[in-house]
Amino acid sequence: MNIKINENYKNLGKNYLFAEIANRVKKYTSEHPDKKIVRLGIGDVTLPLTKSVTEAMTKAVEEMGVKETFRGYALENGYDFLRSAITKHYARFGAAIADDEVFVSDGAKCDAGNLTEIFGDNPVLISDPVYPVYLDSNIMAGRKISFIAATEENGFLPTPEGIKETGAIIYLCSPNNPTGAVYDRRGLKEWVDFALTSGSLIVFDSAYEAYIHGDYPHTIFEIDGARECAVEICSFSKTAGFTGTRCSWTIVPKELKAGGVSINDMWRRRQTTKFNGVPYIVQRGAEAAISDKGYAECLELVDFYMGNAAVISNALKEKGIFFTGGTSSPYIWMRCPNGQSSWDFFDTLLNEIQVVGTPGAGFGKNGEGYFRLTSFGSREDTVEAVERLKTIL
Ligand code: PLP
Repeated sequence: MNIKINENYKNLGKNYLFAEIANRVKKYTSEHPDKKIVRLGIGDVTLPLTKSVTEAMTKAVEEMGVKETFRGYALENGYDFLRSAITKHYARFGAAIADDEVFVSDGAKCDAGNLTEIFGDNPVLISDPVYPVYLDSNIMAGRKISFIAATEENGFLPTPEGIKETGAIIYLCSPNNPTGAVYDRRGLKEWVDFALTSGSLIVFDSAYEAYIHGDYPHTIFEIDGARECAVEICSFSKTAGFTGTRCSWTIVPKELKAGGVSINDMWRRRQTTKFNGVPYIVQRGAEAAISDKGYAECLELVDFYMGNAAVISNALKEKGIFFTGGTSSPYIWMRCPNGQSSWDFFDTLLNEIQVVGTPGAGFGKNGEGYFRLTSFGSREDTVEAVERLKTIL
């Protein structure tokens, strides 16, 4: 073919992290069909949708089968009922968000990737280690990327100290995937102040806010000044078990302006052009998930997963292995034993005890030497994985 391609794709790693893990596991299972694999790798939920959600979705399905209540294309940015339910959810944390600052979407992953489109060639700052989508999508867009080191020394909560860039796009994720570290108000305020003085924008990913235990901010909009320097991505995936159902949102405050243009207007323009909305049935389920009754049910799911986190944490404590997370996050971030590299430890676990986790190096340079375990499995699988782990730690 005689076409030009986006050359930036050549700068990506060969596979998306979880695709690489899936390939290795597939190869192992085809060579050892008799071995039972226990997966504590990809952050996918295992508990079903809650009663409030399925009831609302069933009702919505029925409406779709009746001429008078049938709906065609959904509104690109979400039905009013869901946008308003999301603003009420924010009110739980004392954050005032207007309905037209809420953009409903089919995934925080998509929004994290698509947001790069509305910004120009700014410096990009990404905490390392972190959810790989921010990095890969900025590589695809050909941006200049610098990393903010999250290490054991700073408790995996880097500060803006020493950062020279101005006019940057800064990605923060709290509670963090993979480390489980969560910013307190003071920590987030430092970032907001830095963004304001350096003319930068924070892209804040709060996908795991429902897992927060204790007095930590659930949204960056609990912090003064954030409306002038931040957008926030959040999702029903981990809160309400919507990983397969697909529904998320992005908050873009109207105060955000750059180059004389409103970022809220730009995102609306982008979404209305390239996105055709989340299905009505799904939006009704999402609305139910964050109603008072529905949210209480979601928190029961969260509690169950945090019970798994306790099973894993207790075993690591017993074995004297350093780890973080597992208290305000479904992830446990452990140091690989005996100085092993994270992919070596991955192979050891797969080959010797048939447990699948996620190598820390897949989340960035500073993830080398660490390993992520998730508490999204069943209790039975989690206990089984932990028993097997104890035999080699
Ligand atoms: N943001 C973070 C930090 C995640 O860990 C994940 C999924 O693992 C997502 C976003 C993806 O969310 P969604 O399922 O809404 O695309």
